[in-house]
Parts: sequence; C-alpha cells; structure tokens
Amino acid sequence: MNDIQHRKIIILGSGPAGYTAAIYASRANLRPYLITGVNKGGQLMNTNEIENWPGDFNKISGSDLMDRMHKHAVQLNTKIVSDNIISVDFKKKPFYLIGENNKYTADAIIIATGANPRYLGLKSEVFFKGKGVSTCATCDGFFYKEKEVAVVGGGNTAIEETLYLSNIVKKVHLIHRGINFRAEKILLNRLTKQIKTKKIIIYLNSTVKEILGTSSEVTHLLIKQKNSIKNKELKINISGLFIAIGYIPNTNIFIDQLKMKDGYISVICNTHGNYTQTSIPGIFAAGDVIDHVYRQAITSSASGCMAALDSERYLSSLL
Ligand code: FAD
Ligand code: NAP
Repeated sequence: MNDIQHRKIIILGSGPAGYTAAIYASRANLRPYLITGVNKGGQLMNTNEIENWPGDFNKISGSDLMDRMHKHAVQLNTKIVSDNIISVDFKKKPFYLIGENNKYTADAIIIATGANPRYLGLKSEVFFKGKGVSTCATCDGFFYKEKEVAVVGGGNTAIEETLYLSNIVKKVHLIHRGINFRAEKILLNRLTKQIKTKKIIIYLNSTVKEILGTSSEVTHLLIKQKNSIKNKELKINISGLFIAIGYIPNTNIFIDQLKMKDGYISVICNTHGNYTQTSIPGIFAAGDVIDHVYRQAITSSASGCMAALDSERYLSSLL
C-alpha cells in the first residue's frame, strides 16, 4: 500500500454513470480519479446486444460500448485506478476511502457503484455457483451448447437471456414466479415468436425449490408450481441455471455514512440543481445506485453527468 493519494474529486465505479461523470469532471479540469471496482465496465459487460443506446442503431455489445467510454475518459485525462473500495469515512474532511490496494482522500466524491445480481437465497445455489449456476448468459451460455438450461425471472434480463440462450442450447426452461412478465413488449414479442421453435418452455406461477446435482455439476431443478387447486412439484433435467431476478444496489460500505431508502442512496433531487447530492454535501451519487425505477444505461449516464456538474459547483464554492 502506498501513501494516501489525494484528489479534488474521486469517482467510484466504471459503469456508464462513473465514466460519464469522469468525462464531464475531466473536461472541467478537475483531474479525477476513477476507481473501477471489481466489475470493470459494470453491468453492461454482461450483455452482447444493446439496441437502445441513442445513435448506435447498428446494435453494439456491452463490452464495446464500455470500452469506448473508457477510452473517452482516458483521452480526457481521467486517471483510471484499478482498486475496490472496502470502507469509507465521510465524517472526516477531506473524505477518506480505503481500498484493497490503497488509501485515498478527496474533497468531493461521486458514488456510481451500481448494482450486483440478486440471488434466490438457496443453499444449493451457493454450492453450484460456477458449477452450473450463473447470472450471465452471455458469459456462460456457450458452455451449455446442446444441453438444457433454465432461466429464472420475468424482467428484461430474464427474457433477453432466454432469447440469447435459445440460439445456443437445446432447450430453455423459463421459470417465473408471476403470471405477467414485466419485460418490455418488444422483448415479449420476440419471446412469443421464438416459442414457436419449441426451444423455450415457460412455467408461470412457479418458483425454484431446489437445485439438484452431483458434487461437480447441476443435473436437475425442482420447481414448485402454484395453481388455483393445489401446489405441484416438477423435476426438470437441466445442466445450467441462469438467475435473472434483478439487481441489488452496491451500497453496503455506505450504510452508516449516508441516508438511504430500501438500499438505494438518497439524493436530494432539488429542482434548482444539486440533484445528485447525498445527505452529505460534497458526496454525490449517480446511476443505478440511486435509481429504484429506470435503471438504464442512458439514465445512469445522465445522472453521472449531473453528479459531475453538481460536484464542480460544490468544489468552486469551497474556493
Ligand atoms: P454499473 O453498470 O452497475 O457499474 C457499477 C460500477 O461500480 C462497476 O464498475 C463496479 O465495479 C463499481 N463498484 C461497485 N462497488 C465498488 C466499490 N466498492 N469500489 C469501487 N467501485 C465499485 N440498460 C440499457 O439501457 N440497455 C440495455 O440493453 C441494457 N441491458 C442490460 C443487460 C443486462 C444483462 C443487465 C444486467 C443490465 C442491462 N441494462 C441495460 C441496465 C444497465 O446495465 C444499467 O442500468 C447500468 O449499467 C447502470 O450503470 P451504473 O454506472 O449505475 O452501474
Ligand atoms: P427487474 O426488472 O427488477 O425484474 C426482476 C424479475 O425477477 C421480476 O420479474 C421479478 O418478479 C423476479 N424476481 C425478483 N425476485 C425474485 C425471487 N426472489 N424469486 C423469483 N423471481 C424473482 O430486473 P432485470 O430484469 O434484471 O432488470 C433490471 C433493470 O435493468 C431494469 O430497469 C431493466 O429495464 C434494465 N434492463 C434493460 C434492458 C434493456 O433495455 N434491453 C435489458 C436488461 C435490463 P416479479 O415480476 O414478480 O416482481
């Protein structure tokens, strides 16, 4: 570990919110540090087709888009730091951060730590992680060529993963706890079309009861199906389970430091600017970490921009 490194502004996170904040802060000559965290590039690294990033009408992969954002920030002199922050002290000034590799202080901070996949909470799920249980179809789908897999969830991610997998594997069993999917219509239309290939089987009102297998691989899934008369249990042959039941904001390290609601960092949302300020002046937050509702790349980038503008104004007020 080196000496403590001080910067006017430090940005936590290398997703769309973090990189956008870095681009704006760099252009304001604030010479920011951007600390990447473990998941370099953020959630979009898990998708191979983005079709709603304005201007990129030919579709773009998540890793290509994030690579371009990275290059853009670096070209404008953002210093990219490969570290993961494990604790913070925002009661001190300058604000204090402890990473796995170094310690840092900053006059202003932008938190853009996004979110991580939610898990079902089963013991068997922990046991089979990396041995058949995955949260990323584009990363792991390839391993299940000609095999049967299951996807759990009913949002955009679950439907996208089901569609993606159905082009690779033998069969996809899509398990959703409700009756209606919350995914967007365009994806549901594609799902309806793809069902005709008989490569997708849908189980509604169904939950995963247990993941079964040997010591090294998943072999079956036990699911519980509710219907109006009685509950029924089904055992399905699968080699892989893809969990796509949403994301939990990465805010554990801020719990005793900042005001939060349902795990998301609260921002003041002032109509006269300073939208992204948290409960502590000088600490700003952007992207999925503040967003209960929209959670898109474009909305994350937009709030990253606002956080950079808000922090620039804050830093000027200190002069
Ligand atoms: P994230 O992308 O979650 O990035 C968070 C960053 O914070 C990561 O780099 C992580 O390493 C870092 N970090 C976390 N903890 C720490 C720490 N302690 N210290 C330092 N750094 C830390 N949206 C769309 O608009 N279009 C799409 O097509 C689309 N497809 C998607 C497909 C999938 C499979 C998923 C999961 C999401 C998709 N989304 C899509 C949503 C989009 O990815 C998110 O809304 C967006 O990535 C959020 O950006 P963010 O910068 O807030 O956070
Ligand atoms: P989401 O929209 O929060 O959906 C989560 C799904 O998982 C819901 O269907 C939910 O069921 C189900 N679920 C939650 N907890 C569960 C549990 N314990 N057991 C079983 N099922 C459970 O999450 P997401 O699909 O990952 O999307 C996250 C965000 O990223 C969204 O804002 C989404 O729009 C965005 N995104 C966008 C795109 C795109 O634009 N193409 C692609 C992917 C993601 P209920 O419906 O019953 O609550």
